[in-house]
Amino acid sequence: MKNKIPYVLPLLTMILFGVVNLIDPTSVALPFYCLIVSFVVGYESAAGAALIGLAIATFFALYSSIMFRSVSGPTSGIILAQHFAIMVLPFCALASGLVLHLIRSLLRRAAHARVVAHQAGLELRSLREALDCSKDGIAVLDGDMNMQFANQIFRRLFRFLPGFIGTKPHYSEVVRRALYGGAYEIEDSQRETTHNERMAFVRSGNPLPVLLKLAGGKKIRFTCGVLPDGGRMLNYTDVTDMVEEAERLEELANLDGMTGLANRRQLNLIADRDFERAKREQTPLCVIILDIDRFKAVNDRFGHDIGDRAICHVANICRDSKRNTDLAARIGGEEFVLLLPDTAIEGATILADRIRRRVEANPLLVNGKPMELTVSIGVAQAATLCSNVQELMKSADELLYKAKNSGRNRVMVMTPADLPNCDEAAA
Ligand code: GH3
Ligand code: MG
Ligand code: MG
Repeated sequence: MKNKIPYVLPLLTMILFGVVNLIDPTSVALPFYCLIVSFVVGYESAAGAALIGLAIATFFALYSSIMFRSVSGPTSGIILAQHFAIMVLPFCALASGLVLHLIRSLLRRAAHARVVAHQAGLELRSLREALDCSKDGIAVLDGDMNMQFANQIFRRLFRFLPGFIGTKPHYSEVVRRALYGGAYEIEDSQRETTHNERMAFVRSGNPLPVLLKLAGGKKIRFTCGVLPDGGRMLNYTDVTDMVEEAERLEELANLDGMTGLANRRQLNLIADRDFERAKREQTPLCVIILDIDRFKAVNDRFGHDIGDRAICHVANICRDSKRNTDLAARIGGEEFVLLLPDTAIEGATILADRIRRRVEANPLLVNGKPMELTVSIGVAQAATLCSNVQELMKSADELLYKAKNSGRNRVMVMTPADLPNCDEAAA
């Protein structure tokens, strides 16, 4: 009802003016009034303009037919022209109302488009600013793998100037520049392969994360997401701290807390690996097992704290006597193992005897007084053709037992007779 008021009111007023015109047929007040009404209503809606225009046209068609019939005589020329104008004006009102409405809707549409474009611009700007604040590197590629956007962190990670990304380069060019521009920790021979792998990875839209090693020791978790338009969203998270912490925890899990040597778990892992390598490459592998002599007596006499210091003292001698490629582990209370890759029995015997002599020659000072310590040692070489790593440890342990039984403070070494018989092993 409320919507109809703008049409009802002008119509009622128009009828009123129509009555006035019947009394004074030469008055032009009504046509002008009709013209204005059509303008106003037409501005609001095309249907309104058409309705009013039609009503006016019908009214004047009736009105004029009455007037024409009543007009006669020589003066009728001017009056006829007036009536003709009165008849035409409503149609002009109808047309102008419609034209006005058309112009208005065009203007409205243009203004709306301007507002939408402005809002989109604002949204894009705040989106870019938000992505620049992200702690992750973010880049967006279109369906043809051209770079559409890259945030600040991405540019910083791969050492790109903002101008380069602005040229919307192909992703292949981006990867190549990063690989050859010093952003990666990578060997020269690996650059091209890495480039091809990265391209294949992003093309396939593989969702699994990849760890990238950048210059300066940075570790980056890289993921690729596929966008609805076929483009790609690339995400680079700095996980350097996490990876270092994991490595530190893993190292701690592999170390003996008291001496800092490897623990039994680490020894087993490395021993398996070294044994397989020795077997494959036919290189010698030796093991030394070492136990402190009469240690119970040390504990009983000096207490556990001094006993612990004695264990660390022997551990330090083992660590300082071996090569970097050897592994020293504490496998029990005061029992140690040295794993010696690429070392034959002669070399292992020299090392074992060096350790024995150093322990004997360097007593631990307790309250300024020297505490005598000695060790017994078993040395064995792996028979890689027919035995396994457990056999090797067992052989060295048996030799240690022999050293203990032969009076302690000595090294017992495997002889050819101690080697496991391959035929027996095979049987
Ligand atoms: P042997 O010459 O035959 O080796 O005699 P031993 O007394 O050393 O005998 P054994 O090797 O069996 O003794 C190990 C002793 O080491 C038993 C235990 O009291 C002691 N022990 C084991 N672990 C620790 C440790 O972490 N700290 C200290 N202080 N003592 C330990
Ligand atoms: Mg002992
Ligand atoms: Mg022991």
